[in-house]
Amino acid sequence: MELGGYANKVAWVDLSAGKVDFKPIAEDDARKYIGGRGLGVKYVFDNGPKVDPLSPDNILCFMNGPLTGSEANMSGRMAIVTKSPLTGTVTDSHHGGWSAARLRWSGYDGLVFKGKAAKPTYVYIHDGQFELLDASEVWGKGVHDTVKHFKNKYGEKDLTVITIGQAGENQVKFACWVNENDRASGRGGTGAVGGSKNLKAIVIKAEKAIVKASDRDAWKPAHDRALKNIMAEENITSPRKGGLSVYGTNVLMNITNSIGALPTKNSQVTSYGENAEKISGEYINANLLVDNPTCHACPVACKKEVEVKDGPYKGLRMESVEYEPAWSVGANCGNNDARLVAKMIDLSNDFGFDAIEIGHPISIWMEASEKGYTNGDGKIAWGDADGMTNAAAMIAKREGLGNVMADGAEATAKHFGHPELAMTVKGQGIPLTIRAA
Ligand code: SF4
Repeated sequence: MELGGYANKVAWVDLSAGKVDFKPIAEDDARKYIGGRGLGVKYVFDNGPKVDPLSPDNILCFMNGPLTGSEANMSGRMAIVTKSPLTGTVTDSHHGGWSAARLRWSGYDGLVFKGKAAKPTYVYIHDGQFELLDASEVWGKGVHDTVKHFKNKYGEKDLTVITIGQAGENQVKFACWVNENDRASGRGGTGAVGGSKNLKAIVIKAEKAIVKASDRDAWKPAHDRALKNIMAEENITSPRKGGLSVYGTNVLMNITNSIGALPTKNSQVTSYGENAEKISGEYINANLLVDNPTCHACPVACKKEVEVKDGPYKGLRMESVEYEPAWSVGANCGNNDARLVAKMIDLSNDFGFDAIEIGHPISIWMEASEKGYTNGDGKIAWGDADGMTNAAAMIAKREGLGNVMADGAEATAKHFGHPELAMTVKGQGIPLTIRAA
């Protein structure tokens, strides 16, 4: 069968048995459920609706589509698909960088994990080898130290590390997988599923091997048309001219604020007034920006690498302050300090949990503190820097109130148990809250 694009090979890993089967993609599936998300959702659906997300029976899929690893624009993204411990339904969350392309250049469309390893385990894919190895050395480490460990061990060249941090190991329900230090597949708790399987990291070493179109005559005009749209000066994607390219996704902060659509202080109001500017893409561009990295095959370069040059987080260098995390740990936590926003996102990436979700339980605690509903849990003020960074550590380690917050916003609101507090609706992508009162 000629599927075109696909490597036509998925690694099905039984972690309980320590075995891997390499299987082709059924042609019918490839055509009906085209792309990484489609195939992953199909596999999770076939695995059954009654599976406990944190049990060995759940499957965890790292999936590519048929364009991955080719020269197609913006094709360097990977979908992680599983049954979510946070929402109880299927979740798919995507990251950029180079891991998707490197997986494809290694000859795979996807990796699907089932079961539970007897001890901490990582996968190392290199030189035609697929190895399941002991991860005890990095179990307990954060994302940044884990990446450093594998770079020291295998060399930086052509290397990708996708890993969980302490949050995934401790099955925080919004723990995630983080690729190359800062690119998170943030939503839905995919990292907790990894932790429940004792799966710490996917390490891939692969030289560039651009995937060629099987029908070059059909490919070229379609590719050129897409590129023309991306490069057009009037579009937000226009390199170094459009809003997405110049300011990253945080170009949205001032826009959403100006139309009264920026949930603020646990969504009690929908505008952060003049404070929004202080955590906006424009402010960060003018004050903290040091580089504009990109993903495989993308001329947009929406990633914004920042460095904090003064204050308590001086020396922090990270990528990047995206709009949704900046909203979550910024406006929604009553925090107008861009440097603290960068610190909180970096902590989220290092502990390995979703920097969008984290602002919900913390802001609920803040509102509970303001209104005196803390029931002996202690108080945290809006924008309290030490309180926020301590809360992040408490959540990652499931310590004290952090053990409640680690189960998500809904559990946190229920814990404080007052009808005036916001209840976050189960869902993904949209910071939607309703109020019981
Ligand atoms: S640089 Fe930005 S726009 Fe380009 S693929 Fe990566 S995430 Fe997408």
